[in-house]
Amino acid sequence: MKNVCAIVCAAGKGQRAGFDKNKLLVPFQGSTVLERTLSAFHVPFIDEIIVTASLEDFDEISALCKKFKNVKVVLGGETRSCSVYNALKACEAEIVLIHDGARPFVKRSLIENCLTSVKSYGSGICAIPAADTVAVCKNGKILSVPDRSGMYLLQTPQGFYRENILTAYERAFESENTSFTDDSSLFAVYCGAPKLCLGDPENKKLTSRQDFEGAFARCGMGVDTHAFGKEQNYIVLGGVKIPSESGLIAHSDGDVLLHALMDALLSAAGLRDIGHYFPDTDARWKNADSREMLRSVLSLLTEQGLKVKNVSIAIQAEKPRLAGYMEAMQNSLSSLLNLDPSAVGISAGTNEGLGYVGEGKGITVNAYALLCQA
Ligand code: MG
Repeated sequence: MKNVCAIVCAAGKGQRAGFDKNKLLVPFQGSTVLERTLSAFHVPFIDEIIVTASLEDFDEISALCKKFKNVKVVLGGETRSCSVYNALKACEAEIVLIHDGARPFVKRSLIENCLTSVKSYGSGICAIPAADTVAVCKNGKILSVPDRSGMYLLQTPQGFYRENILTAYERAFESENTSFTDDSSLFAVYCGAPKLCLGDPENKKLTSRQDFEGAFARCGMGVDTHAFGKEQNYIVLGGVKIPSESGLIAHSDGDVLLHALMDALLSAAGLRDIGHYFPDTDARWKNADSREMLRSVLSLLTEQGLKVKNVSIAIQAEKPRLAGYMEAMQNSLSSLLNLDPSAVGISAGTNEGLGYVGEGKGITVNAYALLCQA
């Protein structure tokens, strides 16, 4: 017999996030929210995972679950309670840990604590103390403000002995009381007060689009250097032409700033570097406008479900003088990246005569980028 089973609820529509599909299936950190959640439950003390899926998403979720061992998909129902009830009926384990698919940041230690609570007290409901004051409201008016010291925000996982929670569900369904938003409230009505287990503020539920955007950030850095020596009376930095005694030697237009920036963006996304995507052995990129390359990089990020939050760029150049072009470069990048100019930081400095930069032999650019969920 399977000893511990995790039930992951994925049968909702997730409409509040405003995506055109189930929010658990949109690109997220290189995979999907559901895959992140399933990975979290892939621990030795969980014997089986049951995922609930709506009819609409059933095939997509089944395909995705094939990547994991010991995962079974069951059809959900009209409400969350119906879906969990179906999963409980399909489960044979002694203990079940029921979890929202939309909480991908659950840590192994929290899952362990929840399981320990079930073994010690018969149940374990992860919850965190309310940091804000909670009010009971009706028709836009505050009716009462309960004492905050006794208020908790309920999370998942919520763990029970399967026999007990199944009995509670059977009773709820017998009395057609099936609109509970979590399992602890149903258990409390039909089985008795469940045991609280300290949750984790980082175990957030992704509900709105803002939750997705703020859920994580990834930073990346990129560096590039090009040498002077091309017979040309300008250089290109950030898509802006700047008069210069000579141009920068390069296969492309030599926009050393955009090259460093592209590497920062690709690096933040965990992708290969620009040499991989735009090899200098490829004639397509000969004298290429680096802005076109940047647009390709931005589409790669979009495919990963990522967007740029801000960039920070430091140029090291003894010559030419860049002071008069800083604003133009900032505006150029802000339009290329579709960012407010305040999210594009550029600084420029000399090397005080030291090294190849100081000797005026070339320009080096360091770029940093921060990405978030698109
Ligand atoms: Mg380069």
